[in-house]
Amino acid sequence: MPIAISEKTIKREFIEKIASLSGQDINRCFQCGTCGGACPMSGEMDAMPRRIIRMAQLGLEEAVSETRTCWICASCHSCTVNCPRGIDLARVMEAIRLLTLRKNENMVEPSKMPAETVKEMPQIAMVSCFRKLTS
Ligand code: SF4
Ligand code: SF4
Repeated sequence: MPIAISEKTIKREFIEKIASLSGQDINRCFQCGTCGGACPMSGEMDAMPRRIIRMAQLGLEEAVSETRTCWICASCHSCTVNCPRGIDLARVMEAIRLLTLRKNENMVEPSKMPAETVKEMPQIAMVSCFRKLTS
């Protein structure tokens, strides 16, 4: 679906925060799509990594936050090692996650997790889940 772009939708602060948190120059991306092709999680994503980068370049914070892509990202770095422009996309995804979590928005609520799930989930998986998905 096309995204309306205007001065209201462009969040320049969002562009700057992604750059400072990730240490990456996302403007180097030339939209080749190699990252999506290399991503083992792309089948589960509602927007390909290439699209996330494009929206981030344009400062479309709301459009980025409406996708689940950064939460599906497994931080495997496959995109990073394959990007012909040397962009560490895994760090960009992490920066996008941090910007959401810093607003005190949790992606999972530990207190609302079913007791059966908590009982069966390996502790290391639970710790990883809370690290990645809670503020
Ligand atoms: S592989 Fe790199 S240059 Fe190509 S779309 Fe992904 S981030 Fe952009
Ligand atoms: S780091 Fe994330 S976006 Fe990159 S290939 Fe792995 S799962 Fe996909």
